Amino acid sequence: MRSRIICKLFQEYYSKDFHIENAPKQMDKREFGFILFSEGVMVRHKRFKRLDELKAFMRENVPSDAYYSCAYYEDPEAEMDKKGWVGADLIFDIDADHIPTNCDRVHDEWTCISCGFEGKGIVPKNCPICGCEKFDVKTWPCEKCLESAKAETVKLLNFLINDFGFLEDEIQLFFSGNRGYHVHVVSEAIKELDSSARKEIVDYICGIGLDVSFHAPVVKKHEKGVEVGRGMRFSCFGWPQRLWSGAQTFLEEANENYLREIGLKLDVIDTIVKNRAALLRGLREHGGLPLIRGVGAGTWKRILEHIVNLQSAKIDTVVTTDTHRLIRLPNTLNGKTGFKKVELPISKIDEFDPFKEAIAFRDGSIKVKVVSAPAFRVGDETFGPYKNGIIELPTAAALLLLCRERAEAVE
Ligand SMILES: [Zn+2]
Ligand SMILES: [Zn+2]
Repeated sequence: MRSRIICKLFQEYYSKDFHIENAPKQMDKREFGFILFSEGVMVRHKRFKRLDELKAFMRENVPSDAYYSCAYYEDPEAEMDKKGWVGADLIFDIDADHIPTNCDRVHDEWTCISCGFEGKGIVPKNCPICGCEKFDVKTWPCEKCLESAKAETVKLLNFLINDFGFLEDEIQLFFSGNRGYHVHVVSEAIKELDSSARKEIVDYICGIGLDVSFHAPVVKKHEKGVEVGRGMRFSCFGWPQRLWSGAQTFLEEANENYLREIGLKLDVIDTIVKNRAALLRGLREHGGLPLIRGVGAGTWKRILEHIVNLQSAKIDTVVTTDTHRLIRLPNTLNGKTGFKKVELPISKIDEFDPFKEAIAFRDGSIKVKVVSAPAFRVGDETFGPYKNGIIELPTAAALLLLCRERAEAVE
């Protein structure tokens, strides 16, 4: 049961402060869906012909979360199979849930819903005690996690602009209001692609099915057992270029520990470290890795696979391939945080501060009873960590704790 105060604040927002300049293109062809405070379930198959109709709905119904379809339909109000699918935007979701960080053990908690077993960090597929697949999960929009999500988003944008050739004005970039970023590509070029075509795009961006042995140094064995080969060459575009620059960064950073972590043997590590300068020279001057004695094709394959993992973008693959997906509506509040989903210019991503620019409530304060919360920042102020205490916080900070069920309002 959501607290009454959350609902009251959301109501205030939708009656005064909700502006949506960048309404979804062709909004009358989209399906809209909402989670209402009053019902707690998804109300969907809605259609709005004009922006003021949508705004009136938001004001009167006060949803905790609002969504619209990436798809365009002839009849958005009809049942799913009778809507008449016309096309869809290409959507990417980058969420901290899919990016392993070393802080998730600090702020994320899960509880198995059947046996009550608790743990911290990334949620397991099955409960280690009873095997159940359902968990009550408490995550946190942590600053470090959001920095990793941003880094993945930068990689994704690079794929979209440099490899696929989308123009910047075909790409909309948003902070989701919670733990990640959304990228919407709105273009005739992709509109009619079906799910399997979208999967091809996903595979490319994730480096799935990329056979690195095409790029590994050629190691041939003569009958006499002598290894010969000319080394490898990268080209200056796409994945080969990523492998090239990734290999440079890798070799610059590769120390014994790092190389051991990716599973290389000690004598191989030793050879790589000793030949580091020659390898880097080969990469920089000749665009390829020279062959060195003692480092075979299998080792290079393992290193290149590691580089593919670093260079790929960690997107939620299910979202992109779903051509009927409902996605959060820009400038609406995220029910899990009370922050807004906000658009940001691609050129401003580096300096974008989600904990400043997504704040919806800038005045007043609320007294709350906090159960537990990690340290966090809203705007320029930092708060916490808290454990069982009553405290008065600025509205946006209190709302975050309330939305995340880490606190209750004190009447
Ligand atoms: Zn269990
Ligand atoms: Zn974190």
